[in-house]
Amino acid sequence: MREIILATMGEMTLKGLNRKAFESTLLKTLRRRADGLGNWQVRTAQSAIYIEPMDETARQHTRQVFERCAKVFGVAALSRAAVCEKDYAEISATAADYLKEELLAAKTFKVKARRADKSFPLNSLELAAELGGDLLEKYTHLKVDVHNPDFTVVAEVRENAAYLHGARQKGAGGLPVPSSGRAALMLSGGIDSPVAAWLMAKRGLGLVAVHFASPPYTSPRAAAKVRTLAEILTEWCGPIPYYYIPYTAAQEYLRDTLPKQDYFTVMMRRSMLRITRLIAEREQCEAVVTGESLAQVASQTLSALACTDAVQDLPVLRPCIGMDKVEITDIARKIGTFETSIQPYEDCCTIFTPPHPKTKPKMIDVERFEAVMPELNTLEAEAAEKAEFELIMPCK
Ligand code: ATP
Ligand code: MG
Repeated sequence: MREIILATMGEMTLKGLNRKAFESTLLKTLRRRADGLGNWQVRTAQSAIYIEPMDETARQHTRQVFERCAKVFGVAALSRAAVCEKDYAEISATAADYLKEELLAAKTFKVKARRADKSFPLNSLELAAELGGDLLEKYTHLKVDVHNPDFTVVAEVRENAAYLHGARQKGAGGLPVPSSGRAALMLSGGIDSPVAAWLMAKRGLGLVAVHFASPPYTSPRAAAKVRTLAEILTEWCGPIPYYYIPYTAAQEYLRDTLPKQDYFTVMMRRSMLRITRLIAEREQCEAVVTGESLAQVASQTLSALACTDAVQDLPVLRPCIGMDKVEITDIARKIGTFETSIQPYEDCCTIFTPPHPKTKPKMIDVERFEAVMPELNTLEAEAAEKAEFELIMPCK
């Protein structure tokens, strides 16, 4: 029996003239995600995506490819489906055979039929009724329940063939990466920034990760943890260019020369954003993404955010801004970053922090202090210059 993965596109189908570009980005991503797991053919017709194994290796990896495709943004829903001729007897026999396990496990069921090919002799209602009748005869323990069935059989008669499957699984949704452009992601080892990354990638944004570390105050294990987070994100976002910024010299200079210690956090945030802007320039990014959430800590009050935003011209996207920790944590669990994020390693943002950081910093003071730190810009440029680069590829 021939089996394929049948997926739908969702929101992308509303994109009018740009639809072709979205589709081609999505198909390219799906093909890349199936790489190394046999020979797969990926094509689209009538707003469905057909992902088909073309050799034995591919067939043996169907489950894995299905799981990978479920994490591709732009895929609204997907299911594994049996393919057969557009012939009623075949459709009936294939449904009974292919869905045997699910039908045996269910007490109640219903059949949903869709006829895209209007030349097929039975209309949707007739097909559903006929097929339901046949399955009741073969599986005598079953009862029909159209409102709340244990299992739904879906029969679709499409242009080239008929497809049989159970309920569709929800896909990752959103838009394919990088159909919305590229942004520099400020990635820490915490819970919030990987979630922010995922939320923006879902809107089709390609991400370039920028991580600041201050060895020896921050350890190699802390850096390894952040790299692991980036690796988990690649399963959703595709390959991630990753910049490790050695931030020690600039951060020590800030600590040693800043006239008022309660301004340390906001001054450091400005400094980090300036460096991120340099990387954004190099990588042709059109925005910056952070995991900030309003009022979560002193550096995330409106006054502090205003002071940070003012250092550069790109939009700063903060998808977690209106979320509380519970909501952010729920997403972190769902996307697989939570367990790594809670490993207890230090972050450069939490070293040298003053006991009472200023919650309402003023631009006038910030500028006054920067005026007496003449070497800061040079140290920032050096940090960007010495950044270590790696292209992180999806490994699962
Ligand atoms: P999380 O670290 O999960 O984002 P948090 O509550 O620890 O949450 P902060 O430490 O205040 O947040 O940092 C706010 C944001 O600044 C982070 O979401 C991230 O975007 C950025 N950030 C913090 N530390 C770093 C770092 N070491 N490198 C790059 N970006 C960072
Ligand atoms: Mg953090």
